[in-house]
Amino acid sequence: MKDKNTIKQRLSLECVLRYYGYILFNYPDGFLHCPFHMENTPSFHYDLVKNSFFCHGQGCGANGDIFNFIQLKEGCSFFEAISIAERILEEYETKVFLPRLKTENQRKDHRNKQKRA
Ligand SMILES: [Zn+2]
Repeated sequence: MKDKNTIKQRLSLECVLRYYGYILFNYPDGFLHCPFHMENTPSFHYDLVKNSFFCHGQGCGANGDIFNFIQLKEGCSFFEAISIAERILEEYETKVFLPRLKTENQRKDHRNKQKRA
């Protein structure tokens, strides 16, 4: 497995957000509907310069870097998040992004189906 800092240097938050199907309209920072709590007004702030995010939603407080985002999104451990980040980076660098599927488990299913076909 690649070193966590190496992954972080090469995999941007923008890439991770796009991987999970988020469309960014504002650069280099802006707001999205928070993926981690229900809300009507976007309070999830991303910063593509710092590659970090912070949710201003009441009682949410989600924040961190690409690994924290993946960890929250997948509900996995920090260690697993690093290996998922590594896989996202590989897909990104080989330009073979899988279709926008919500979670890593769905992606696994998708990959297995492709293998069988
Ligand atoms: Zn939130």
